[in-house]
This record gives sequence, C-alpha cells and structure tokens, in this order.
Amino acid sequence: MKDSLGLYLHFPFCVRKCAYCDFLSAPADEAAKYRYAAALKKEIAEAGRMIAETCPGRTVDTIFLGGGTPSVMPADALIFVMEAVRGHFPVEPDAEITMEVNPGTLTEGVLSFIKEHINRVSIGLQGTHEEELRILGRIHSYEDFLASFRAVREAGIKNISVDLMSGVPGQTEKMWEEDLRRVTELGPEHISAYSLIIEEGTPFFEAYARGAFSGKCALPDEETERRMYHRTKEILAEAGYQRYEISNYARDGFASRHNLRYWERREYLGFGLGAASLFGHVRRSNTRDLAGYLTGSFTGPEEERLDTRAEMEEFMFLGLRKTDGVSFSEFEQYFGTSMEAVYGEVLARQLAEGLLMRGEDRVFLTERGLDLANTVMAEYLMD
Ligand code: SF4
Repeated sequence: MKDSLGLYLHFPFCVRKCAYCDFLSAPADEAAKYRYAAALKKEIAEAGRMIAETCPGRTVDTIFLGGGTPSVMPADALIFVMEAVRGHFPVEPDAEITMEVNPGTLTEGVLSFIKEHINRVSIGLQGTHEEELRILGRIHSYEDFLASFRAVREAGIKNISVDLMSGVPGQTEKMWEEDLRRVTELGPEHISAYSLIIEEGTPFFEAYARGAFSGKCALPDEETERRMYHRTKEILAEAGYQRYEISNYARDGFASRHNLRYWERREYLGFGLGAASLFGHVRRSNTRDLAGYLTGSFTGPEEERLDTRAEMEEFMFLGLRKTDGVSFSEFEQYFGTSMEAVYGEVLARQLAEGLLMRGEDRVFLTERGLDLANTVMAEYLMD
C-alpha cells in the first residue's frame, strides 16, 4: 500500500519583516491575501485531481500551514483554503494539522478557524525578554505571547509548539536559561530551539557587517553559544522534553509528524509561493514571484529528478538529524543494496571515533556526533 501524503501550504505574508528573516514573506493588503487564497485553491485542486487520477485513494495524514504568518490571513480566506484541501484530498480523520501563528495576530475569527480546522499550533516566540524581541524586530511583546498561548489553549488545542532562538545579539546565558524555563513552565507539548543564523540580505547581515553588534548588543561568543547549547538539552530534559531532532524537543508522543516526514523523505506536496514538494523521486520548487503566482503567469515549478546517489545522500543526512537515526533495513529495502556496501568505510570510522552508535537495525549520532552534526553528515555526500 502507498504511504500517506503530507501537504504544506505556504502563506507569504507578515505584519512586518523581522530583522533576521530571509524567509519568503512580506507585508500585503487584504485584497492580495484573498487573491492569494484563490491562487492556492487552484493549485490545490489541480494537484488533487492529479493524485486522484494517478494514485486513487492516497490519503493525507499531515497538513502544515506555514509562512510567513498564516495567522495574518483573513479567517474566511483560511476556511476557503482548508475547504479546498478537504474537497480535493482524502484527509485521514486523525491527521496532524499544524498552523504557525505569531503573537499579536490572533483575531476572534482566526481563533475560531483554529478551533474548527487545526489540531496543532506552532507559536513563534523567539525570546521572553523585551530586549531580545526588540532587537530581532518582532512585532510582539512577551505579554502578547502569553495572551496568544492562553487563547490557543482555550480554543481547545492540546498540541502546542513554541519556537525559541539562542545566539541573539545582547542575549546572555542567564537570559537564555530564563527563556527556556519560562516556556517549559507553561507546558507546551513541543519546543523548537534554534540558534540565530545571520543570513545575507537581511538587516542583521548589514548590521553585523558594519560592526553594530558590539557592547550591550554583542553576539554571544563561541564558548557562550556552546554552553547555551548544552544547557538547552539539560533544561529541556529536566522538564520532560525529549530531543528527537537536532533542534527539536517534545513530550512523549508529540514529535512533529509533518517535520518527521521531511527528515524521513516521505512524500509531500507543497502549495503556494516558493513551496517545495518531494514526489516520485522529484523535488519541485514553486515560483518565488508573488505577482506571477497571483495572476497565474509564472513559469515552473522548477524540477530536480533525484538519481539514486542523491537519494542515498539525502536518506543519510536528513535521517541522521533525528536522534533515532537511520535504519539499515529501510535503506536496503529502498535502494536494493545495503548501507554498509555504500557507506561501510565512513560508518566504520565514525563508529570508531564515537560519533555514531549502532542499535538494533539502526545507526544514530552520539551526543558528540550531534555536537558536530554538520561535519559528520557532510561525509555522506559522495562527491
Ligand atoms: S514573522 Fe517569521 S516569517 Fe515573518 S518576518 Fe518574522 S521571522 Fe520572517
């Protein structure tokens, strides 16, 4: 039987651009948001027809509304899009349906949409101190976040994720520990703890280049970052969150099913501006041109047919992001050859160096391997 499908719906709108953000998002007026919902519906309908023709009965078990900020969409436009999804795809009754929201954007209408259509909410907080939020250019205060968290719980959502960010200019180790503790005290089911990456083309990149991150706004040095990273694991473990991926922690049974799909290379279809899909050995990326997407006059999507070598590389470096690593039997089943036959030398060396550990049918990164994940995983590229 064919595996179920995941759907990703991208909403490229935000109230205002954060200073560190290089995601595909921008402010927009209401008219553009409604036109966008109509364009999304068209794309969803076409894909739904293609799936119904080529693999009838293929069900959907995860849906992710991401962005951008999906919660800045008008509630009736969100309903319109979700009805299109349900009208064109058979969605499993217990499907995980996640929506990203930002504090300060939840209207009554959006909350009732969440109550009706969503069962997992991911809240972008990033920091609990006003100075962290200010320097990041976030639109909300910590109080706004608390109000949104409560409102989402009151809407009946039993699976909430909170995003936090370490390595913020001016952030001390003590502030980061407070961020973690304040959030764990609220008891979300899932926490994503990322470190800030200063991306080219962002206001942060320019500020960094002209030396603006100094004095009270200094970036934590490498040693402090390392300690923050280790404290993250300790504080979250004490509070009952298990690390299941490099930056993701969950209470028992609350790992993100949709994100696991990405790391396990299970098929998904992405809709909307810049959205990516993995389907039938092909990776697709939609246009990033909003005006073209809205008028239907865009080229693409861009397609990359993955050969066996590229798929093997992805299997390893995406799978090893998970703390339970990759399975020998799944590798063999998918590729018709054993993992040892392809990667025997690198596996043996990394096992001997204490970067990997072997369990029954699986191999996964040790704590040391996780600390050096980028270097370890680069060794699975065959070039
Ligand atoms: S809310 Fe998220 S997507 Fe929007 S600008 Fe900020 S970081 Fe980027």
